[in-house]
Amino acid sequence: MAQKLGIEDPQILVNTVNRWNDDLKTKGIDTEYGRTPSADPKQKAVFVGRDVKAWSAPIEEGPFYAVKLVPVMYHTMGGPRRNVKSECIDPYGKAIPRLYVAGELGSTWGITYQGACANADAMIFGRIAGREAAKLKSWS
Ligand SMILES: Cc1cc2nc3c(=O)[nH]c(=O)nc-3n(C[C@H](O)[C@H](O)[C@H](O)COP(=O)(O)OP(=O)(O)OC[C@H]3O[C@@H](n4cnc5c(N)ncnc54)[C@H](O)[C@@H]3O)c2cc1C
Repeated sequence: MAQKLGIEDPQILVNTVNRWNDDLKTKGIDTEYGRTPSADPKQKAVFVGRDVKAWSAPIEEGPFYAVKLVPVMYHTMGGPRRNVKSECIDPYGKAIPRLYVAGELGSTWGITYQGACANADAMIFGRIAGREAAKLKSWS
């Protein structure tokens, strides 16, 4: 499998799997990333509605499958705050004239990503921002 994945030294994969199995069986903590794995069937995932029966388990019995994963920036939250008119507001809650924000620039979501709602955030507040900006008299 290491060869199929293009891993130059197969021993690296062997060591990674051995460490993972040892972490779960003897330490109760993922020593590489500091996560606390659990096989509690009541354990829920971070995303509401996704029922994860076993949070983590040792990798022991085949057949094994592998996919190559790469990191991407999926979504950002936070940033400048906005009001219902999509106006950017200052730290005192006052609208900053002629400055509008939408989408990920000051996401409406809190600390947890609301699956499938990010495009709506961009489209709804983008439309509001455009509509409000179009009402303004141009600078001359
Ligand atoms: C892989 C992936 C899957 C996703 N799946 C979903 C999903 O299923 N449902 C969902 O709701 N959301 C999903 N999202 C999130 C959603 O796509 C984004 O939250 C949304 O597109 C953000 O819109 P936005 O207009 O705020 O920003 P963006 O779409 O990032 O638009 C910003 C634009 O600004 C341009 N730009 C940047 N700098 C400059 C500059 N200096 N001058 C001019 N232009 C500039 C960029 O080129 C870009 O076109 C997904 C995101 C990713 C990455």
